[in-house]
Amino acid sequence: MTKTADHNNPGRGRERGCVFTGIGASPGIAIGRAFLLDRGKLKPRQEKLSSDQVEAEIRRFHEAVQGARRELEEIKEKTLKRSDREGVGQKHDYLFDVHLLMLGDKMLIDDTVTLIKEKKINAEWALSLNSEKIINFFKQMQDSYLRERQSDVAHVSERILRHLTKSEYDSIDKISRGVIIVAHDLSPADTLQLNPEKVKAFVTDLGGRTSHTAIVARSLEIPAVVGTEQATEKINGGDHLVVDGIEGRILVNPSPEQLSSYLEKQQQYNSFQEQLILNRDLPAETTDGFRISLAGNIETPEETESILSHGAVDIGLYRTEFLFLNRRNPPSEEEHFQTYRKVVESLPPESRTTIRTFDLGSDKISDLDHFHEDSINPALGLRGIRLCLNRRDIFVTQLRGILRASHYGRLKILMPMISGLAELRQALEVIDETKADLAREGIPFDREIKVGVMIEVPSAAVVSDQLARNIDFFSIGTNDLIQYTLALDRSNEHVSYLYEPLHPAILRLLKKVIDNARAANVPVTICGEMAGEPLYTLVLLGLGLDKLSMNAISIPHIKQIIRQSTFVEARQMLEECLKMETAVEIEAFIAREMGRRFPETFLMKI
Ligand code: PEP
Ligand code: MG
Repeated sequence: MTKTADHNNPGRGRERGCVFTGIGASPGIAIGRAFLLDRGKLKPRQEKLSSDQVEAEIRRFHEAVQGARRELEEIKEKTLKRSDREGVGQKHDYLFDVHLLMLGDKMLIDDTVTLIKEKKINAEWALSLNSEKIINFFKQMQDSYLRERQSDVAHVSERILRHLTKSEYDSIDKISRGVIIVAHDLSPADTLQLNPEKVKAFVTDLGGRTSHTAIVARSLEIPAVVGTEQATEKINGGDHLVVDGIEGRILVNPSPEQLSSYLEKQQQYNSFQEQLILNRDLPAETTDGFRISLAGNIETPEETESILSHGAVDIGLYRTEFLFLNRRNPPSEEEHFQTYRKVVESLPPESRTTIRTFDLGSDKISDLDHFHEDSINPALGLRGIRLCLNRRDIFVTQLRGILRASHYGRLKILMPMISGLAELRQALEVIDETKADLAREGIPFDREIKVGVMIEVPSAAVVSDQLARNIDFFSIGTNDLIQYTLALDRSNEHVSYLYEPLHPAILRLLKKVIDNARAANVPVTICGEMAGEPLYTLVLLGLGLDKLSMNAISIPHIKQIIRQSTFVEARQMLEECLKMETAVEIEAFIAREMGRRFPETFLMKI
């Protein structure tokens, strides 16, 4: 169908000012029209009808079925033409006929109409109840051909549903002007394709604050609210929305009073950001002279500019796995080399760039062949260094690219998901062999290149004393360290309430890792999202870190907090926290203390 928000139906039957919340994943306030994007299953709205609405609803349902039919016929015609021209696709043509037949099927169509009539419910609800019943019926079939028809029923119902909700069917690159995307889910790869000039904000049903989708949103500086559980149910394409990414709030069709209060908040937020940036070139140093380095996290080379403009000179974490997304072949050695060289050459000579070897797996799924792991628990599967060691060919190709680029600037290598010393030794062996190969081939590289590990698996934190004796630096990935220590899926909105960075277990682990690093004279960075969260700045400072690495937008704010504090008070605050017994207690203490010191930030929730 390829309907755009222009054809959507602004505020159909919606009361003004409906407000709901989710997880504020990327700060900022956006105001604009909703654009429903089908990037996953739509959640059907459920509405009861009065008797006099039933006839119109049945007509709406038939129109949607007709729309789906026209659309399928068009696709079929196009595919047939292509088959004739290119000789491809014929073997799947029959699928269109199966789906077209279903659009006239009694069980699917007539029974849905009966449900609308008898139960007096809206068409989306009736269709989903009916298709669920048919799918269950097919599921129980002995014959495998018939059993597989359940997916045809699901696809046909989904197509009708899209016509009913008038939601966008096509891909992200079709978006042509400033809209707010509303989707059931967006993958990190989808999010990476968003153009901040065309997308004012996004809202999703699924997702957590440290999911990579949220991380990319912050990198692109697109306000986002994720994990709402109900956005696609409550919002129609074309609805007028206010998205508050700071507090995780969404207003649908706001009243003039609500709108003007948000316009004011938007302005306040923007001027706060403008004022922060004035400190850009000043050091991150406390008033009693403790200096810490602030660095930026990037996912793509283009973000380097934003890191510099927000006042950092180092890249503390380059998530290179994003180079592997949205493509079918892994990058060549030359592509790795040119990409990393471009990054180091775009930075001042004194800058250092920490390149993390690819951390694919879990929510960062590549389209590359053999990279798909059919696992019910991908976060515990073949990801990070495990995948690198499993696919040494791809690992070595990347290492050669990094090492070659190290001749042109100050690079460091960082390895993700290391769980213990044996795994570290295997990985170091691959690095040593790759260096030896390059040396034999006479290719220049930095022979003293520093190699570090992410501390993000609890076992690595526990044996961090052993790791520290075998490595040049640590970078603590709090996103995963929290996920694995507290056993909560960082992308799952249902357990986001368990995401407690100040949980006593996390604070103790952080302290242990940093103390072990200190004892071995190993520098230590925190590069998880916790590093860019102003509420935690003084506690982290008190731990005595060398560096905090974060999204560009967080840098000026974190710098301001450090510049207005003393190291002594940060230490005291940490010591108080370490005496407390629960995350709730610690969080309340920190919120009170930080609110008192920085009322503008914490009481106004900027
Ligand atoms: C982390 O786990 O904290 C981290 C920085 O890595 P990522 O978010 O890419 O998993
Ligand atoms: Mg991680």
